[in-house]
Amino acid sequence: MQAMVLRARSTPLLLEERSDPQPGPGQIRVRVEACAVCRTDLHLIDGELPEIRYPIIPGHEIVGIVDLLGTGVSAIAIGQRVGIAWLGNTCGRCEFCRSARENLCDAPTFTGYNCDGGFATHTIAEAAYAIPLQMFGEPAAAAPLLCAGLIGWRSLLAAGEAKTIGLFGFGAAAHIIAQVCRWQGRRIFAFTRAGDLAGQDFARSLGAVWAGSSLDAPPEKLDAAIIFAAAGELVPAALKAVKKGATVVCGGIHMSKIPSFAYSLLWGERRLVSVANLTRSDAAGFLPVVEQAQIRTSITRYPLREANEAVRDLRDGQIQGAAVLVTDQEAGR
Ligand SMILES: [Zn+2]
Ligand SMILES: [Zn+2]
Repeated sequence: MQAMVLRARSTPLLLEERSDPQPGPGQIRVRVEACAVCRTDLHLIDGELPEIRYPIIPGHEIVGIVDLLGTGVSAIAIGQRVGIAWLGNTCGRCEFCRSARENLCDAPTFTGYNCDGGFATHTIAEAAYAIPLQMFGEPAAAAPLLCAGLIGWRSLLAAGEAKTIGLFGFGAAAHIIAQVCRWQGRRIFAFTRAGDLAGQDFARSLGAVWAGSSLDAPPEKLDAAIIFAAAGELVPAALKAVKKGATVVCGGIHMSKIPSFAYSLLWGERRLVSVANLTRSDAAGFLPVVEQAQIRTSITRYPLREANEAVRDLRDGQIQGAAVLVTDQEAGR
């Protein structure tokens, strides 16, 4: 197999040849077709997540074909297309696992963080955490659904019954969730970096009724806001943009420090919550919506060996939608 490997903090990914991995009991091997690049991969590369073990193969938005089964796997067949997402495994025993909150497990395994992920031609996954993807034809287009889509979906659920929603940071997650919201009849207000007129146009093209800078006030107070960007100063900005009783959801895994702000921004029963990881039932709820709402992802493809270029372009805000790594087979389609 080939993989793009992170060997130390803040270093480029290195292309390595390795022997093909073998699935253990309950595991599957997947021939990777596509793997999207998530902002969390940037946090991993920058060493902003705790307890990173090196070397690590990043990547947790994987679409591929099962090509080998470990012992005891019967629910998945060789040749089946599956998605492998961030939640790689859980303990099944802690108070969170036992109360349908496996996203908060005390001893989780996260794909491309505590175990090798999808910036590779092959990867190993727990069969019980693989997501069947038979209904999606094009692997690269489906890849961003597996984190951007799922975390966006979980964030949207956390935002409640809001009719008007502000999306702060219009990247991979927001471009999917804006389409879901339009289908649901909600109105989206998109906040981008100041001066990102192309991003604002992109948001309007996906149905946003208003798009502007995150420094601007929206034309009306909103029912909820979701912050996808990793900038802590967006928290008081979002609280300012919402009505009394509104929820502000922080959808990222990492955020720069939140500046202090007046209590009056939170008062009025505004709620500030975070969304952490995802559950398998999030996928079960979200994927049918993708089909019914006919969600289309905007993607920029990179060959696997150009993962560093994909990371750079994502970091520089050059990507509309999602960056997706494709293996050579997939690149030739
Ligand atoms: Zn992610
Ligand atoms: Zn657990």
